[in-house]
Amino acid sequence: MKIYNSMTGKKEEFIPINGKEVKMYACGITVYDLSHIGHARQAMVYSMIADYLRYRGYDVKYVRNYTDVDDKIINRANERGKDALEFSNEQIIENEKDMCALHVDNADVMTKASEYIDKIINFVSDLIEKGYAYPIEKGDVYYRVRKFNEYGKLSHRKIDELLNGVRVDVEEGKEDPIDFALWKSAKPGEIYWDSPWGKGRPGWHIECSVMALDTLGESIDIHGGGRDLVFPHHENEIAQSEALTGKPFAKYWSHCGLIKINGEKMSKSLGNFITIRDALMDYNYEVLKYVMFSKHYGSDVDIVDSDFTIAEKHLYYFYNSILKMNSFISQYNGDINGELLDDEVISGIKSCFIEAMDDDFNTVSAIANLHSVFKDINSIIESSNKGNRQIVANTLAKAISDINEVYGILGLFKQEPESFINELKKKYVKKLGLDVDFVENEIARRTEAKKEKNYELADSIRSDLDSKGVILSDGVNGTVWDIKELY
Ligand SMILES: [Zn+2]
Repeated sequence: MKIYNSMTGKKEEFIPINGKEVKMYACGITVYDLSHIGHARQAMVYSMIADYLRYRGYDVKYVRNYTDVDDKIINRANERGKDALEFSNEQIIENEKDMCALHVDNADVMTKASEYIDKIINFVSDLIEKGYAYPIEKGDVYYRVRKFNEYGKLSHRKIDELLNGVRVDVEEGKEDPIDFALWKSAKPGEIYWDSPWGKGRPGWHIECSVMALDTLGESIDIHGGGRDLVFPHHENEIAQSEALTGKPFAKYWSHCGLIKINGEKMSKSLGNFITIRDALMDYNYEVLKYVMFSKHYGSDVDIVDSDFTIAEKHLYYFYNSILKMNSFISQYNGDINGELLDDEVISGIKSCFIEAMDDDFNTVSAIANLHSVFKDINSIIESSNKGNRQIVANTLAKAISDINEVYGILGLFKQEPESFINELKKKYVKKLGLDVDFVENEIARRTEAKKEKNYELADSIRSDLDSKGVILSDGVNGTVWDIKELY
């Protein structure tokens, strides 16, 4: 199995530090507002990586944090007249509702900065003792960056280059502009904890070093987060952790790409900030997963409106195929252990998925395989005959079981096909300016007309619906309708 390592800039063979044990930490969100689809992507990606590693037999412990003490939180809480922690806890609850609606599982351990204050204070004290940190008069504690010789090894830049373009706080007593805060003295009205340096609160970077050490130990296998965290956040985590333990902090650094919407960075001022909640009002959660996993997790991506409609069409086709498979399987009692067709595509569902995913979690190629799989399945169903129906049913049973087994890791095909299909039809019929009742009434009227041999009326009803975007097909079980745009 290969995984891209931002530290070396290469795809490397994945070999955990300790046998089959995988310790993974991913930086979570700062909870001061509703989560957007960029947060959704990261949560989906690291949860998928954890699930896939488990599928491949690894024993995974996955930890993710909430930053629940921070300037943005304090400001937002003050604006709303709330206590900072009360406010951030409310935001955590809202975030968890969104993740639940997205069907993204929590990590095995979810940590909060505010619950680690004592351990943070101990960590900072140890860094001071080792000469890597110093307190200033006012009660802040800074990390002495130039003392850590390898600083810049993740972002591959030298300290003096890093200083360009970084907002530098001028602070009396600070030894070097590049030094960063481990502990911040409390300003009047701010939340604080008592510490050896006075009332204050932790800086942002220190919490992840402390929580990773506490929950996973000195060296972890995979450290993940958004690409925007490489510098300074992850660089600083390395400096803190490795200065304390003298051991490599993480073996593989994994970064999830960032999202642009229709060519522009997501921002509130541009009005293109899509919260998870808004996205779920418009799209089924599997559509969102399909869009995200149709792009490689490591790439920065530009999401355009058509990505969602394309995902809907693809899933509509897949779910309709599953519906056909299910009815064929139940009609002919398909048995997964019975005789199977010799079909390369179906027998390769799992191995192709594994081959794609073993190559740095290449969900793009895994999803591309789905198209050939369902194309093959449909042609098997269409060409089945009296002589081979049983074998076809067995093969379809095997196919659906394998599809569910592996594509379930991407969170796909977890819904009842009928309900997914009907939800989408309802949405699209509404887009046409119609509703389901109207369409069904028209179909009843047409059936009645046909019964009365009024074929002219029957045809005109059909062509009227057709011109509106609704197609009818007559079968043994009566007339069914569908949406032209979904094909
Ligand atoms: Zn972090």
